[in-house]
Amino acid sequence: MPKSSTLPWPAAVGLGLSSLLLTGCVSSVSSASDDERPVVLTTFTVLADIAQNVAGHHLVVESITKAGAEIHGYEPTPGDIRRAAGADLMLDNGLNLELWFSQFVETVDVPHVVVSDGVEPIDIAADAYSGKPNPHAWMSPANVQIYVGNMVDAFSELDPEHADDFATNGAAYQQELQAIQDELVAELETLPDKERALVTCEGAFSYLARDAGLTEVYIWPVNAEQQATPQQIAAVIEYVDENRVPAVFCESTVSDKPMQQVVDATDADFGGMLYVDSLSEADGPVPTYLDLIRYDTDTIIAALTGR
Ligand SMILES: [Zn+2]
Repeated sequence: MPKSSTLPWPAAVGLGLSSLLLTGCVSSVSSASDDERPVVLTTFTVLADIAQNVAGHHLVVESITKAGAEIHGYEPTPGDIRRAAGADLMLDNGLNLELWFSQFVETVDVPHVVVSDGVEPIDIAADAYSGKPNPHAWMSPANVQIYVGNMVDAFSELDPEHADDFATNGAAYQQELQAIQDELVAELETLPDKERALVTCEGAFSYLARDAGLTEVYIWPVNAEQQATPQQIAAVIEYVDENRVPAVFCESTVSDKPMQQVVDATDADFGGMLYVDSLSEADGPVPTYLDLIRYDTDTIIAALTGR
């Protein structure tokens, strides 16, 4: 459900009036073009890609954080605040993902919608975060279908004229999400029991591990300043040793050094970099969310089976 109450985009803007309204109301839009489409800002690149699939060409969708950025403890710049002030709607993940966002929305006074609303959270089991929801709900394409539903509602309120298109786009994308979900579950199910451990740097794979029946093991629960303590690394080394885990992984937005210590101390290989908190640049391996899910699934299977 959208949490926004007063969207600034008038429901029935006459064509002649709209440019006047634009110059009057959103003069702080950074773009100098004549583009009159509403602007939707997301907190990170993964959400921007999902939102673009729902928006089609009717809305301008952009991400505040860039590809490759660390998103949990991001520090917004004055430029981000100026951009946000000119936006018509912001989308955030919620579930405590964006620690910087609540202060950010207070500063700019633009309506925002929490796209994970309605997702059943998985609680974090470890450390100081124990009992808090794991924020990485988008790592289950089934959950992203819920994100899409929330975006369809929010965009229809923002730009009612194109509500039918948002519903059609959303339904088509939800079908793709269901197909990739079925595919990844079927592929990961082929792994033998002894290869069903997913060992990563951040505990970002709880939802994917649940969907695919994998055991999730990680060095630290959520990216933060204090991470990879000697105790955390020792515990992962012990697990990998005892369970003869063939390969371990780390994510693209953090240093893989702590995981290299695990590799050095055990028989496990480094299985590769996984993408969670950010897409790659357009010419990289995961320019879209669907690419991200496919890439991670393939990387995990290849490394764990030695294929
Ligand atoms: Zn993360």
